[in-house]
Amino acid sequence: MATSKLKVLRTCEFCGKEFYAQKVSTLYCSKRCNELAYKKRRRQKQVIETEARVTQKPIEAVNEKEILSLKDTAILLGITKRSVYNLIYNGTLRAHKLSNRMTFILKSDIVLMFEGKTYVKEVKPERKPITE
Ligand SMILES: [Zn+2]
Repeated sequence: MATSKLKVLRTCEFCGKEFYAQKVSTLYCSKRCNELAYKKRRRQKQVIETEARVTQKPIEAVNEKEILSLKDTAILLGITKRSVYNLIYNGTLRAHKLSNRMTFILKSDIVLMFEGKTYVKEVKPERKPITE
């Protein structure tokens, strides 16, 4: 039996109408339903992707960026925004002020900030006993 002669009664997965399909794999009654179903699937995929982005952990979102806001920088370093400001004000961290409300930090500058900051244990001078 040739496939083209086959008639399978199916229910369209998009509009719910019953139709005779020529192939077992046919899911939709018409080209239009097929296209609309495709669009619907694509829209749902976008919604899922958007939701994934929104519910993404902040640190993951920051990891993908090369240019960071002050908030991003705080998240990345696990410090407060206030501490980020302090690093900028004391010249430790280079920032780029584009306007009064827009300051950005290049991720490469964060890496650079660590140059020459190797932790060295301070040797405290021995306390002399108080002699009076
Ligand atoms: Zn249909």
